[in-house]
Amino acid sequence: MNLTVPLTIALSKGRIFDQTLPLLAHAGIEPLDDPETSRKLILETSNPMVKFVIIRAGDVPTYVQYGAADLGVAGKDVLLEHGGEGLYEPLDLGIARCRLMVAGRPETPEPGTRRLRIATKYVRSAERYFAAKGRQVEIIKLYGSMELAPLVGLADLIVDLVESGNTLKANGLVPLEHIADISSRLVVNKASWKMKHEALTTLLESLREAVAKRG
Ligand code: ATP
Ligand code: MG
Repeated sequence: MNLTVPLTIALSKGRIFDQTLPLLAHAGIEPLDDPETSRKLILETSNPMVKFVIIRAGDVPTYVQYGAADLGVAGKDVLLEHGGEGLYEPLDLGIARCRLMVAGRPETPEPGTRRLRIATKYVRSAERYFAAKGRQVEIIKLYGSMELAPLVGLADLIVDLVESGNTLKANGLVPLEHIADISSRLVVNKASWKMKHEALTTLLESLREAVAKRG
């Protein structure tokens, strides 16, 4: 891809980075360093006009919203929490697929018997889900290891991402209710979309093609 403007792409380490790389490679963009071994937070790529910034998954929408990156890849879970202000979400990359679910011990009390406590990192999505069902709950914000909460009496239920269900199972929990299907999305800064329209549409089309090819 022959770009005439610089592009900064926000990515998080781990599964999103690993699964986005083949799609970007289709557009001729390959990092010159491996973020898992390099301590660099800014990575040059095989395209001199393109650089990656490596940040926490939950920070990607913020970087893109404020234009610190022109575009990025973020899980729908993260976008639901962020709200999507200042962002376009033009493409579902179909990667890092999982489900946002309510989970708990198999013997969790019936809803309605008392106000349930829900532990989650996904406060906004959880609030919206239970409010839509007309269920009064108390949400407890956690930053990780949600599976522990029902085991130690911190919460009755959790709202978390489930892929195979093995982590739940290993902790004696079961998936109970489906909230949303999750995959990673391309997000683009609204001002960049106007100012760098040609470069971004070219890249978008190439990524769209790579997603379609992968099937
Ligand atoms: P951080 O480590 O910065 O706190 P994180 O733990 O959410 O963030 P990851 O676990 O790498 O980071 O998840 C990044 C994204 O990948 C999530 O926002 C979600 O969209 C997706 N994801 C998380 N867990 C799974 C899973 N088990 N299967 C598929 N996709 C997942
Ligand atoms: Mg993590």
